Amino acid sequence: MEHLPSAAEMLAWIETVVGRGIRRPGYPADAWTERWLAEVLTGFGLEVRLEPVEVRRWRPGAGLLRLDDGTSWAGMPLPYTAPALGLRSRIARLADARPGDIVVDELAFTELPQPYVKTLATSAYDPEGVFDTLVQTIPFGPRMMEVVEPALAAGAAGFVGALTGLPWDTRDYYVPYDAIERPIPALWLSGTDARRLLTRLPCEAELVAGSAIDTVTTHNVVATLPGGSPHTVIVASHHDAPWASAVEDASGLALVLATARHWARVPERERPHNLTFLLTSGHMAHAAGTRAFIDRHRSELADVVLELHLEHAARRCEPVDGTLVPTDDPEVRWWFTTRAPRLERLVERTLEAEDLRRSFVLPPDVFSPMPPTDGAFFHPEGVPLVHFLSAPMYLFDSADTIDKVDVAGLEPLARAAVRIVAGTAGWTPDDLRTAP
Ligand SMILES: [Zn+2]
Repeated sequence: MEHLPSAAEMLAWIETVVGRGIRRPGYPADAWTERWLAEVLTGFGLEVRLEPVEVRRWRPGAGLLRLDDGTSWAGMPLPYTAPALGLRSRIARLADARPGDIVVDELAFTELPQPYVKTLATSAYDPEGVFDTLVQTIPFGPRMMEVVEPALAAGAAGFVGALTGLPWDTRDYYVPYDAIERPIPALWLSGTDARRLLTRLPCEAELVAGSAIDTVTTHNVVATLPGGSPHTVIVASHHDAPWASAVEDASGLALVLATARHWARVPERERPHNLTFLLTSGHMAHAAGTRAFIDRHRSELADVVLELHLEHAARRCEPVDGTLVPTDDPEVRWWFTTRAPRLERLVERTLEAEDLRRSFVLPPDVFSPMPPTDGAFFHPEGVPLVHFLSAPMYLFDSADTIDKVDVAGLEPLARAAVRIVAGTAGWTPDDLRTAP
């Protein structure tokens, strides 16, 4: 696999993308990244198209909560919630709320014991044996994206999300990202600020949450290489992000670019199938890019042997005094794999060959009807898939900076992607499609 770039080259790509700033759907940094990806892939010798994807673009303004005694705290408006220049009302905890209140609800991230995940997994590659004791903090509470819904059900006029149960201090939690326009203004407050607020409730308050929403055209970057069969393998990630995010998913872009460069330098007859490299837009707007790709190419999906998504080369972090400190370990690696024994064996052999420790092979629907990945919507279409994803607690936060990238994992992950693509040689799309 001498055509794969080094970890240093991949890290330089990640730094280039992160250096442009916040890449939310429709933001200038994301549009720049689309053009840059197209140039890089063209430079590798691939044929590149930009396919339009309409997204709802959300841009926040000021966020502030002010009590009548003059105390105030800055907050982050929740994505796609309603704007308010100054909503004055009573503010109370959810349990004490009356209709028309600003409702305060606390959020704690879910702790996922790995012995439990082991019972759900198809297999594990865990040479250290850490899965018997390890607990992973995932970047969601028990309600996942539906953080505002209890307040809406209580008739709230506004919502304050108290991030008291996060392992570090932040208000930059970019959730929900389903692009549903919820009808009340809403703010995240950091744990430190929220704990001070909670001691004063109920009282009178004013909530300011600036934001603007419009519709803009973004693009999926679609690059192709002809290969040695009439069928296709897709290798994909997404180019948008909640922040200038390094792990989410500048790291996935680097892995897809690395894989594309490798196969571009291999003679056409040695490529197992036609190869499509897909970098989607609008992941942070309900996977708009993946859905648009599927709608546009639905008639071709029956020819797809495998859809391989690559997301999040992440270092596991530990909270120290209210901040996150990266460890030398990778975050737990999930490999959502269609239930087809030869595909599961291919992934298992690959994890061992590349020593990708802390890996689980999981059925695609183990946590929810679709895998929690950018490529989720391929699953109900019946497309055989392998989706690599890790879910570190900082995934949706501005703390997702370069130091969180699992640099040590970049080369083995890129080699794993190449091995999995190569391993499909001679397979036909029907081989992996499970019987109904
Ligand atoms: Zn991602």
